Order: sequence, then structure tokens, then C-alpha cells
Amino acid sequence: MWKLRIDKMISLPVCIAFALMLFCGRDLFAVETQKSDYDVVVIGAGLGGLSAAAHLAVNNLKVLVLEQHDKVGGCATSFDRGEFTFDASLHEMAGGGPGKEDRGLYQLLKITGVDKKIEFIELPDFYRSIFPGVDITLPSNWEGFKNALKKQWPQESRGIDQFHITCSRTFDDLMELRDLFRYKMPRALLVKSMVPLRQPAFFRYKNKTFQDVLDECFQDEDIKAVVSQLWVYYGAPVPFQSALIGLAATESYLSDGVWHIKGTSQALSNAYAERIRELGGDVKTNSRVSQVIMGNGKATGVQTTDGKTYSCRYVVANTDPFQLTFDLVGGEFYPESYIEKLDSLQPANSLFGVYMGLNIDLAEHGYKDTEIFYNPSRNTIQLHDNMMNGNFKNGPVAITLYSNFGDPVYAPKGKSVVTLTAYSDYDFWPEDRAEYYALKDQKVDELITVAAKVIPELANPEFIEVKEGFTPRTLKRYTMNKDGVVYGFYLSPEQWQKIPNDTPIPNIFIASNWSQAWHGMGSAQINGWRAARLILDKEGIR
Ligand SMILES: Cc1cc2nc3c(=O)[nH]c(=O)nc-3n(C[C@H](O)[C@H](O)[C@H](O)COP(=O)(O)OP(=O)(O)OC[C@H]3O[C@@H](n4cnc5c(N)ncnc54)[C@H](O)[C@@H]3O)c2cc1C
Repeated sequence: MWKLRIDKMISLPVCIAFALMLFCGRDLFAVETQKSDYDVVVIGAGLGGLSAAAHLAVNNLKVLVLEQHDKVGGCATSFDRGEFTFDASLHEMAGGGPGKEDRGLYQLLKITGVDKKIEFIELPDFYRSIFPGVDITLPSNWEGFKNALKKQWPQESRGIDQFHITCSRTFDDLMELRDLFRYKMPRALLVKSMVPLRQPAFFRYKNKTFQDVLDECFQDEDIKAVVSQLWVYYGAPVPFQSALIGLAATESYLSDGVWHIKGTSQALSNAYAERIRELGGDVKTNSRVSQVIMGNGKATGVQTTDGKTYSCRYVVANTDPFQLTFDLVGGEFYPESYIEKLDSLQPANSLFGVYMGLNIDLAEHGYKDTEIFYNPSRNTIQLHDNMMNGNFKNGPVAITLYSNFGDPVYAPKGKSVVTLTAYSDYDFWPEDRAEYYALKDQKVDELITVAAKVIPELANPEFIEVKEGFTPRTLKRYTMNKDGVVYGFYLSPEQWQKIPNDTPIPNIFIASNWSQAWHGMGSAQINGWRAARLILDKEGIR
């Protein structure tokens, strides 16, 4: 009797639903996900946002990426000036590429299928490092790197091997912990409590500086300076820099390779956008988000400055957390502890630099390098302060020789593209336009003068066809990051964890270098995967 009634109760609505489904040509059982325009709206098409969207789309979530600029990529873009093409940012990418062990970034590119849409260029040299009395070029693999160092500093042989082991062990420990951000209590607590035993290298160095590592491994101050040269990429002077970033990044570059993307980093960004569209997602440029629409303490959609609204079940922000929290959502939706945490963290630096197009082939003039660091001294605290105070004449400079990458995209035959880069502080640059441009011209020439100590041709006006400066204000305009910061938070031992990819609002996530996985392009894409992974976990997708 009961059985009969239940059968009738079930069968009537099912029959109606089935009839309606045939009539409307739609799947009524999917109605839950179709209440919103999209499953996920991603604010910003930098590499973090694009990576998050690709990982979500490959798992069948319907995504929309909204980008304020007229092209995708954020920092990872390119632009043309006359016959020259400039990569706006990428010098060297860590995280791996074809032919290397499948770990880190390259593994993620394979999951989304973006790897098939790009060509990698592996750079043979890591960098050339110049200090008073030292000029050394280091290959981009451990064997070559160690041999070059041992040749110059044979008395440091044991320390060089110890440095290699320390980098590799710390990286391996970090890889073992890579899913920790997904674990809930009590599993998270259990994994954390086992860290001293299971991940001893990570545990040993998590609160140390890179200077501590150098002091453990080496005696000679010159080798310390050369090995830590990439501080000019990572933001903090070596005595204040988290040991973890120095160790993990060095291991990744030297085991997984030093990479560039054929056709500039824009090709990588475009590949992501193309893949997202292939997977049924939408990517819209010239679409600036002005508000995250909230309901019952959750995000229900976003609004753009042109008045369009898009409803969604989740929001991923590729923006800085300050814009997200205070401008797009509203501080009133967050617990005080989160606001206090944001206020307490120090952002990293921004950058100043010069894009140059030359009418000579620098390789033919004897400069075969791809990345050169010129340092007027070994005192990284002093050098850092010089740059941040606009004293570029007395700071270091990173010189990237793009036309030596073996990619014809940059310059026609017989010509060259070079970029000069230094740190910079947003507040150094005046708001007044006339003052700003006058100061920029002056500082562009100062930075060129420093770089010309290595490549005198750079200061010869007869060779210069294009000379264009960029400042923190330029970077702010194109990325909307607070003070034009491109790395997120400053990477000291106290701050290496930055902020989590999830936020106190249960359906809003952060996928940018302001969240956990280090600095740089590889990290931005890993942060994208992390934000996507947290959403996929909520959706029960393995
Ligand atoms: C000159 C330079 C050199 C660099 N060199 C290297 C290098 O050699 N190797 C390396 O690994 N890294 C390098 N980096 C760093 C690297 O490029 C960045 O750390 C990384 O690309 C940042 O990615 P992201 O996803 O965090 O955000 P971003 O690139 O900052 O992108 C954020 C995006 O969000 C968009 N956005 C923000 N707000 C809104 C809104 N309200 N609505 C819509 N869109 C919005 C922005 O327009 C932007 O497209 C360099 C950076 C620069 C500037």
C-alpha cells in the first residue's frame, strides 16, 4: 500500500518534469546551476585569474573572466613600438617546461591543456652577475651552476654542494606540503604537527632568512652575493628575505629550467584565454568590475563600470586584496581580524625600468648574455634603499637582452631589444603630470648610465630607436594593484605565507600573487590553481 503511494508520489512530478524537459529542450535537473549566469566570475585576467578560470573550466564549471584592460595578461603582456616588440615583464620563468620532471607549474599547464598552445624557450644561462671584482656567468642547471662556482671559489666546494642539497630538500618538503591549504581540521592540525619530523628542511628554514642559509653554507662574501643575486627579483634585501623563497626558487630554476615563452608572455596569457573559451567559458576585456554584489553574507554576482551585472555562485579575485575587500565588497562584510591582518602586512616593492629598442645587434657586439645583473656593491640593504629612494645611479640594475632569446619576435635582424629593471617606490613619483614626466626622463637616463657600465652601447644616442620608461604608476594603471606592486606582499620570514587563497566570505577566493605561493609568473598560476582547487573541493570535484 505504502509502496504504491510512494511510487505514485514520485512518478507524477518526474513525468511532469520529463514532459517539460522534452517541451523546453532543457535539462531541468541542471536548474540549480542555471539559476546564476555563471558558476564562477573571475575578476582580472592576470596569470592568476586566467589559471584559476582554466582549472575551473576544465572541470566543467562555467566561468566568466572580466578584465579591465583591452588585453589579457595583467603584467604578462606585450606591446609594440615601431619594429620592436616588448615583453612587459617576463625575464625568466621558474616552474618547469617540456622535458623536465613533471612538477610544479608545468604539471598544472598540462592539466588545463595550455601547454599544447605555447612553445617554451629554455634559456641556457641563469644569469651573469657583476660585482666589484667579480664577473661570473652561471648556467641554468645544477651541474653547470656548481661547476662555475667551484671553478671561481674552489675552497667553497663543500658549501656549494651543501647549498644544492639544502635547496632540493626544502623544495621537496614544500612539494609534500602543497595540498595543506586544502585540509580542514583535524587533518590540517595533524599534518602540521608532523612537519618537524616529515619536512625537516622546511621546518628548519621557515623562520630563517636567506642570509642565514648563505652564512651556513659559505665563508666568502663574494660567493654569497653571487648565489643570492636574485634578491633583485624577489623584493627584499638578502638579510630580510625569506629563506624559503631563495631556496625553493633556486631549486626550481636549476632543476626544472629557466624558461621564456615563444612570442612573449602575452602568448601564454592568450593561450589561457583561448583555452578557457574552448572549454565553454567567456573572457571579456574592457570590463572593469566596480562591485561584488552581496546577499546573505555571500557574493551573488558582480557589476561592471558600464552597468552590466553577472550573477554567479563563486567569485575569484585576481585583484589585490585591498581593492577586493574595501572597494569591491565592502569592509563591513569582513571580520575585524581579517582587516587587521591586511593592515599589518607590508606590501612588496614596485618596479621602475626602461624598454629599449636598438638599431644594432648586441650579440654581434659581443654581448651574448640573456640576463645580466650589475651591482655597484654587495650591500643589499643599502642598494635596496637607494632604489626605493630613487637613487638609481647608485643601485643595481637587471639587464635583459630579449633579442638573445632566439625568438625573432622582438626585433628585426640586426637590431636588439633590451629592458632595464630596478625596484621603485610608488610615492617617489609625483602626481603632477609635468613633474612626473620630467622626473621619469631624468631617471630613465640615470638607469641607462648604470647599465652602460656593462654595455656602453646603451648610452649611445645613435643606437637608440626606442627608449620608454615605466614606473609604479604605469604598473598601477595596467594592473590596478595597490601602489603598482607586482609581487603582492613583501617576502620576509614573517610574511612568507602572505594571505590565504580563501577569504572570510565563503564563496570569494583570491588568485593572485598577494596570496600564498611566492612571487612571479609561476606563482601567480599556482595561486590560480589553488583558488580553483578550493572551489572544486566545495563542489565535491576531485
Ligand atoms: C617589469 C616586470 C618584470 C617581471 N619579471 C618577472 C620575471 O622575470 N619572472 C617572473 O616570474 N615574474 C616576473 N614579474 C612578476 C610577474 O609578472 C607578476 O608577479 C605576475 O604576472 C602577477 O600576476 P597576478 O595574476 O598576480 O596579477 P596581475 O598581473 O597584477 O594581474 C591582475 C589583473 O587584474 C586586472 N584587474 C584588477 N582589478 C580589476 C577590476 N576591478 N576589474 C577587472 N580587472 C581587474 C588587472 O587589469 C590585471 O590584468 C615581473 C613583473 C614586472 C612588472
